[in-house]
Amino acid sequence: MLDVSTKQSRAKFYSSSEWKILRQQRLELDHYECLWCKNEGKLTTQYDSILEVDHIKELEDYPELALDIDNLRTLCKDCHNKRHKRFNYRPSEKKKRWDDEWW
Ligand SMILES: [Zn+2]
Repeated sequence: MLDVSTKQSRAKFYSSSEWKILRQQRLELDHYECLWCKNEGKLTTQYDSILEVDHIKELEDYPELALDIDNLRTLCKDCHNKRHKRFNYRPSEKKKRWDDEWW
């Protein structure tokens, strides 16, 4: 299994070609848009911010999902910071995709 237990090993993972390829695929799948901003009706693309690819189940806790494209999502830098700095910010990530629709 992938070793992501230390900062160094995670840095190594993030610089691996496997990760870079997968990351690119995820960005394309998400049309280069931040998913959280999109949930709020905002469009944030690579021209508005820096887009990052986040592990939904965190890398440290689920190393076996490190390269699972379904465990990845595109977030802008701001949303990604909100997630990892944990400002008690609980976005609607548990909601199903269409819960925001009201028709
Ligand atoms: Zn965002």
